[in-house]
Amino acid sequence: MNNTVIRVTNFRKTYGAMVAVDGISFEARRGEIFGLLGPNGAGKTTTLECLEGLRQADGGALDILGVDPGRQPRKLRNLIGVQLQTSGLPADMQVDEAVRFFCAYHDVAPRYDLVSRLGLEAKRRAKYGQLSTGQQRRLALALAVAHKPPVVFLDEPTAGLDVESRTELHALVRELQADGATIVLATHDMAEAEKMSDRVAILLRGKIAATGTPREITATGAGFTKVSARTEQSVLHSNGTGFPGVSRHLIEEDYAVYFSTDPGATVSALLAHIQSRNDPLIDLRVERPSLEERFLEITGRQ
Ligand code: ATP
Repeated sequence: MNNTVIRVTNFRKTYGAMVAVDGISFEARRGEIFGLLGPNGAGKTTTLECLEGLRQADGGALDILGVDPGRQPRKLRNLIGVQLQTSGLPADMQVDEAVRFFCAYHDVAPRYDLVSRLGLEAKRRAKYGQLSTGQQRRLALALAVAHKPPVVFLDEPTAGLDVESRTELHALVRELQADGATIVLATHDMAEAEKMSDRVAILLRGKIAATGTPREITATGAGFTKVSARTEQSVLHSNGTGFPGVSRHLIEEDYAVYFSTDPGATVSALLAHIQSRNDPLIDLRVERPSLEERFLEITGRQ
């Protein structure tokens, strides 16, 4: 079965002489959270705006469930939900009014249930401008998904939010995903991208520098895997870079720590070594480089 919901093929966008997006291709599938990452000016917003039908592509093809966003705005309207940036609503518009307005636009009954679901019940008569940043973001998400669109675009959805609001918003995004929505998440927050995304594309100066699951991306760089081991008699403390794949070794509290390009070989050799010395293992940790470390490696290199 073909589950592709969004297909971007050789997409290109220029602003005058400035090439903002230079022939990128990717696909997002049904029920997938797709992370669009990249440093400032990489082309994320431009890509989102073209997919949302707000700008026209200059080359290549964009397709959302068979609809060309630049050419079929009416068909696109009910297929996508877009979380507005915080400044997107009039400051004196009440929460309930905003819900009525957006639901009328999409021709669905007002979704006051979402207002409660997002913890805004007590704020239904409050004006948009009087809501906190977190409340504004939650309302923006409610408005984006009120018509149950199969595709949702989120641009920096949790920037500036406290941990609790962020967690709440993530939970809601997971619910949308469980209902089968495809979510495109543009973010600078690598921890968020790593935790939330099924697959990501890292954009760099208008091109895709890396794409795959966060695990695939963190597994491929030169980034070293950190292998830490603690044993009863600390025999590893005197064994430095002798294990395969290890280029750096240090002692951190009771742990012998190895930075390895070949963690499988390192761990096997390490276990064989402590076994041969009859030094029982207390703890072993293998930590991949984070997506943030890998992101910095990719964006720093090019
Ligand atoms: P950020 O993380 O800073 O939001 P981004 O990845 O979303 O960045 P874009 O906003 O898509 O990047 O910008 C890509 C490039 O296109 C940048 O060099 C930007 O200066 C340029 N650009 C964006 N919008 C316009 C515009 N309306 N006119 C001219 N150039 C633009």
